[in-house]
Amino acid sequence: MQRYFVAAEQFGNSDIRIIGEDAHHAVRVMRTKPGDKFIVSDGQSRTALVAVREATPMLIRAEILEMLSADTEPSWAITIAQSLPKGDKMELVIQKGTEIGAYAFMPFQSERMIVQYDGKKEAKRIERWTKIAKEAAEQAHRNRIPSIEPVHSWRELIQSFGSYDLVLFCFEREGHAAHGRGIRSAVREWIERSDSASEPSVLLIVGSEGGFTDREANEAEAAGAVMVGLGRRILRTETAGIVGLTCLLYESGEMGGA
Ligand code: SAM
Repeated sequence: MQRYFVAAEQFGNSDIRIIGEDAHHAVRVMRTKPGDKFIVSDGQSRTALVAVREATPMLIRAEILEMLSADTEPSWAITIAQSLPKGDKMELVIQKGTEIGAYAFMPFQSERMIVQYDGKKEAKRIERWTKIAKEAAEQAHRNRIPSIEPVHSWRELIQSFGSYDLVLFCFEREGHAAHGRGIRSAVREWIERSDSASEPSVLLIVGSEGGFTDREANEAEAAGAVMVGLGRRILRTETAGIVGLTCLLYESGEMGGA
């Protein structure tokens, strides 16, 4: 069943309005017509089964038939902090991370970034990334759309640590060094000793194609990040965040089982 996210102000008490690109796509591509049913969410707390009463390419008006309570959101709010990768890799991280259950994405700059950061293009890229997150969230039947943060400088990334219950720094050297701490042992240790709410916020930091310098790793660790490995292989930058996110959700019990 087709699913749409609408802004809170389009989600009324008895009916909802779909406008803009979504209305145009629904009518022109999906051939939506009065009587059709689909699911609409306001991306925060309300999700409903609705029936179309009026359908034009500019506006769809649908009556709320039933409020739905299915909550598909993970209890752990995991933000993937991704050092800006080349090309369209960020789009892959956002699409797959959204399907799997990421809470938010925080692009940031680091020393060994290959791509040249261009602030003028940021607004356009964030708009594109937000669209990808929305489409992936609709496809994954999520209740909310993961947020895309503005591109952070290295300093801003470090300063953000205090907003999270746990900060994990994916350090490739930690991954295959004999003494390295894997993500599983680091998270289990944290679960045991933390009395934080059962709905922790976690920041998972991933380097760009060029990885991290020792200086960056030391500075992040000094600021409270836990260095973690993701196995004895070197993962591509666009793979590492997805693997780390999946490990965390698995460890949190999100994939089922106690
Ligand atoms: N410096 C790496 C190398 O030796 O080729 C390249 C960086 S890797 C392509 C990109 C990022 O993915 C790393 O900075 C790290 O954040 C993460 N990563 C990749 N493999 C990892 C592993 N085995 N353990 C922990 N993090 C890893």
